[in-house]
Amino acid sequence: PIAVSRKYSIATMGADGIGPEVVDASVEVLKKLVQVDGGFELDFENFDWSSETYKKTGKYIPDGGLEQLKKHDAILFGAVGAPDVPDHISLWGLRLAICQPFQQYANVRPTKIFRGTSSPLRKAEHGDLDWVIVRENSEGEYAGQGGRSHRGHPWETATEVAIFSRVGVERIIRFAFETAQKRPRKFLTVVTKSNAQRNGMVLWDEVASEVAKDFPDVKWDKMLVDAMTCRMVLDPKSLDTIVATNLHADILSDLAAALAGSIGIAPTSNLDPTRQNPSMFEPIHGSAFDITGKGVANPVGTFWTAAEMLIWLGEEDAARKMMEAVENVTERGISTKDLGGNANTKEVTDAVIQELEKVY
Ligand code: ATP
Ligand code: MG
Repeated sequence: PIAVSRKYSIATMGADGIGPEVVDASVEVLKKLVQVDGGFELDFENFDWSSETYKKTGKYIPDGGLEQLKKHDAILFGAVGAPDVPDHISLWGLRLAICQPFQQYANVRPTKIFRGTSSPLRKAEHGDLDWVIVRENSEGEYAGQGGRSHRGHPWETATEVAIFSRVGVERIIRFAFETAQKRPRKFLTVVTKSNAQRNGMVLWDEVASEVAKDFPDVKWDKMLVDAMTCRMVLDPKSLDTIVATNLHADILSDLAAALAGSIGIAPTSNLDPTRQNPSMFEPIHGSAFDITGKGVANPVGTFWTAAEMLIWLGEEDAARKMMEAVENVTERGISTKDLGGNANTKEVTDAVIQELEKVY
């Protein structure tokens, strides 16, 4: 046997709802991948932080938890959110409580139409829609700034202040240009709402023009977010890499996932591009309590998530083969209900595991 020099430690955290089901399925696939590839190793440590722990202890993350988590090379995350915990508590309690201290300021969401699946766009098919949405993940509209006064009175007011720092805007736009530069088309669309929002969004426009000078080989254009939704539907082939604020990109990426066929197939990477902290990888879907425990969740979004994690760790070849196996399976029509099939989580997982033998 060849000595393995590349070894990565992965923290897994399924958290709530279908999260543990799809993360467990992905760990099975990753273990098989390691076995057939033979060139690298993965060590898994599971963290059982979830809304259940929160309800028992009042905390999502135990004391010293972040230090434990920081020892790993990457985090494979499921979903957070429970019917009996307000969404803003669970989101800030776990997901953002990891993203923010770990400075995962770039959120990356690729979208494509898988072989054998169909888009609700009448004319779009496999290959026609191939985007990467780069979402600002540390400030903007979700900075948590603002407050409420005169609670409960008719004259109550609330402010939700969007924060845009030059440093924050520059680093995400630079990251987006770098992302675009690595892709074959080298094309970036910068999305704002700078006609109506004349401070932060105008700063985005200015910074984009400045940063663009450092990337003469990347073509780019600007879009207002409202017009962007039309362009995604009417002219998907005209887009490649897209960068937008925390709120705008959140909305655009759900639209992108739906246009690609299902919310159940798309991944998200929360990256610390400085690599001082582990980055976190998760499917874009949520905890989906309506199907939790039934064994029918689509694991493909988390498989793709795991492949994106491998790319970040430097295992691009294994990631490509894993995706090839996944697409071979969807192409054969083995898929869950959301993709029009009738397979369950285990059947899709087993099919991918079998397929891995063939692609290697
Ligand atoms: P959140 O509040 O975190 O967004 P959610 O419970 O609202 O989570 P979403 O993930 O947003 O659920 O998904 C909306 C619906 O899409 C779910 O109720 C579920 O029916 C379906 N869905 C989501 N993910 C999957 C999946 N992986 N497989 C199959 N169906 C899914
Ligand atoms: Mg939801």
